[in-house]
Amino acid sequence: MPNDSTLLSGRSAEFRRRALERTPGGVHSNVRLAGAQEFIERAKGAWLYGVDGRDYVDYLLGQGPNFLGHAPDRVIDAVFEACRDGVIFGGQHELEVRASELVCRAVGWADMIRFGVSGTEAVQGALRLARGVTGRTKVVRFEGHYHGWLDNVLTAPRDGAWTVASKGQLAGHLDDFIVLPWNDADQVADALERHGEQVAAVIMEPVMINTGVIEPLPKFLEAVRRLCDAHGVVLIFDEVISGFRLGLGGAAERYGVQPDLATYGKAIAGGFPVAALVGREGLMSRFGTGEVNHSGTFNGSVMATAAVAATVTSLLEDPPYERVTKHSKTLMVGLRDLGLEHDLPLRVEGIPAAFHVSFGEAEVRDYRTLQQLDLARYERLSRDLVRHGLWVAGRGVWYVSACHGEEELDAALTRFESALADGAG
Ligand code: PLP
Repeated sequence: MPNDSTLLSGRSAEFRRRALERTPGGVHSNVRLAGAQEFIERAKGAWLYGVDGRDYVDYLLGQGPNFLGHAPDRVIDAVFEACRDGVIFGGQHELEVRASELVCRAVGWADMIRFGVSGTEAVQGALRLARGVTGRTKVVRFEGHYHGWLDNVLTAPRDGAWTVASKGQLAGHLDDFIVLPWNDADQVADALERHGEQVAAVIMEPVMINTGVIEPLPKFLEAVRRLCDAHGVVLIFDEVISGFRLGLGGAAERYGVQPDLATYGKAIAGGFPVAALVGREGLMSRFGTGEVNHSGTFNGSVMATAAVAATVTSLLEDPPYERVTKHSKTLMVGLRDLGLEHDLPLRVEGIPAAFHVSFGEAEVRDYRTLQQLDLARYERLSRDLVRHGLWVAGRGVWYVSACHGEEELDAALTRFESALADGAG
């Protein structure tokens, strides 16, 4: 993404100057630090409109939440209507019940749910619950999987080890985590053999979307499921990205393996800030007895539950998954063809609802093999793509929404082509 304020002009340059005065780095999330981009005035469907008159086909979708497209009328109307009668009560309301029933019905395997505000929090709830129920402390996790920004889950590779990713982060909070390469069931078996009696949970993105959009190898999820059962370990799927995007039942449904707990966020609420922890009654009920604490002032607010209820109803009534797959597959082929035409080693791989663009030819199965690709080269290309009207992330993940159709496909390929014709890549 453009990292140079001088690339900005007009109102964006002025907003950027003011933002930098009052907000560290000019942004409210470090994930957005990379860019001095045109400020956005509004968004609808699959399009973003900048304050200086440019438009963008959006394949970032707010980092995933806008799966129904931007400002979906049904969700926006439901939230506005519900909130006219109050936003937060510190008491119960019917929408909470309705949204809970709808999510459990859509997910399929889950008995109970607790709502929260961010995916990061939902993960913390899952880890605490797993530890609270098993009485164990250690957690097995995987290289390159992202589970939020808090001290015990934020990691970065350094000198062959996975360690803190930020100054100020308490390194001791990582001590209880066993970090393994993903997609290697033997390593999970070995870790549980050696530490099983101390391991509360195995947590993973069941499709590794944050880093590379890498699918689980055949039988990997099944093997981990069996190993968790054998060792009395709670299996947690972090479906914050995959949930409702891959299908109503997320990755659990796509790959036919059910976890004990799963976290949801992003696509669950049509763009509104909502997350959820879902799971089996035997585990989740421990929150209800008060044995395990889970709290939050804004959990289950009217806004959140109205947004979830409208989003999930919309997905149940008119599942967009076939359309999304069709758009995505055609786009992936189109991008590959353009790479060939321009003699570039462009690599476009993934699952239709999210795919990854980079340079190189490695066979990718985990974080380590992903590093054999030229990720920095794609990062540079992504900045040019933004300048040519394609709103994409520097880390290579492209998200497709229910609103991406023929018009967006044509625009995306035309803009990609014009970036390459200008020498990008
Ligand atoms: N888990 C996964 C798999 C994610 O992709 C993310 C965010 O990108 C999180 C957890 C954290 O969610 P949030 O940013 O809502 O705190």
